[in-house]
Amino acid sequence: MDFQFTPSDQALRDEAEAFVRREWEPGHWDVVGSMAPLPNWHHADEELDEHLKAYRKKIVARGWYTMHWPEEHGGKAIGITTQLAYREAMAYAGSPSDLGGGLVAPVLMVEGAEWMRKEFLPKIANADIEFSQGFSEPDAGSDLAGLKTRAERDGDDYIINGQKIWGTYRNDWIHILVRTDPDAPKHRGITYLLMPLKDESGDYIPGVTVRGINSAVGRHRWDELFMENVRVPSRYIIGEENRGWYAAMTTLSFERSGIQRPARLTKLLEDYIEFNRTNARRHGPSAGPLGSMTFKNRLAELRIQVETLRMLAYRVAWMQSQGMVPQRESSMTKFLGDETAKAVYHTLYSALGEYGNLLPGNDIPLPEGGYLNAQAFMVGTMSVAGGTTEIQKGIIAQRGLGLPR
Ligand SMILES: Cc1cc2nc3c(=O)[nH]c(=O)nc-3n(C[C@H](O)[C@H](O)[C@H](O)COP(=O)(O)OP(=O)(O)OC[C@H]3O[C@@H](n4cnc5c(N)ncnc54)[C@H](O)[C@@H]3O)c2cc1C
Repeated sequence: MDFQFTPSDQALRDEAEAFVRREWEPGHWDVVGSMAPLPNWHHADEELDEHLKAYRKKIVARGWYTMHWPEEHGGKAIGITTQLAYREAMAYAGSPSDLGGGLVAPVLMVEGAEWMRKEFLPKIANADIEFSQGFSEPDAGSDLAGLKTRAERDGDDYIINGQKIWGTYRNDWIHILVRTDPDAPKHRGITYLLMPLKDESGDYIPGVTVRGINSAVGRHRWDELFMENVRVPSRYIIGEENRGWYAAMTTLSFERSGIQRPARLTKLLEDYIEFNRTNARRHGPSAGPLGSMTFKNRLAELRIQVETLRMLAYRVAWMQSQGMVPQRESSMTKFLGDETAKAVYHTLYSALGEYGNLLPGNDIPLPEGGYLNAQAFMVGTMSVAGGTTEIQKGIIAQRGLGLPR
């Protein structure tokens, strides 16, 4: 791997960090976290929602939100290394958002009908519209291709029945995988659709019911989506009927190294050490174990682990920049990222002692604004979200080590 940032990448990093410090209200630690940028941590907080939307608009105005898109779609086609440099700087500085469009924009660019691209891509690029993701179901997570939500053709419409889970179904639109041919082999009977979730007055369309799921720390963080005879025009299909699995697997040359996590964890460790140096004595011994050599060694170990994670993320990005498709490398980054995040949060939380249980809003400048305890509870879920530990280990064993299935 030969990975170097150009002077212009370095300049972008500096600019991005300065931008976040200037434009993002640092009190909102609860939406940033160090696991990944996790927007809308608490759905009931509408003020925060508005704040996030306004912040995203500033990224748009700065010309960064879709700079990774191809020029034909209004982007600047910046390369993988530049995307990584920018994302790392944004995450390190605490930005809850960086590049826009998620998975749906690339899929629309490659598989979407011309009218869909014209209709939706400008709105996505302007941060006027966001899509929920309708992939996982209660019995289809690791085995996503086993999904059961059914879509049956009725004239020019599909009639949809089924359930999705683990998304945030509060947007006006969703991109959703549905089963259109139950008799075909499972990967071949799936269709990819856009579907309106709400009507023009902001109410859910007929047949749609959304129920919140609270996290372990009591915040409304996810939703379940129930669909009963929901009517969706068939022109909202992305790609071809029954070829949705392959459309959903479309990966463009957009950066997906997971660099945000080591960037956030680096900042967290730095903030913890700073807190300890400047506040521990004043606020009592339980907040200040830095004096112990054992604990110092533990912090050093964690910092090395985070750096290893960062190098792995760089490797994934470098492979992409060379036109290679990272597989076991992505799984290694995901797996090590989950384990490292758990180790960092759990170590710091217990090191803070009784201070770890203080709630946000007190006048002690705790790392992550007092949300470290909530993150320490939630960090375990990361080894399920986005592919479980066992699935990552399976990929590393088979595609990395060549072990039999
Ligand atoms: C916090 C959180 C956020 C999420 N966010 C999203 C989201 O944004 N979008 C989305 O679509 N989904 C999301 N999910 C869903 C997530 O992708 C699934 O929960 C995950 O893929 C596991 O699937 P499952 O829940 O069906 O469990 P299962 O697949 O049933 O797994 C149960 C257990 O069996 C093990 N297992 C399953 N298959 C194998 C195998 N082949 N080999 C070895 N072990 C195996 C698993 O590792 C696990 O321990 C989220 C989940 C969580 C918890």
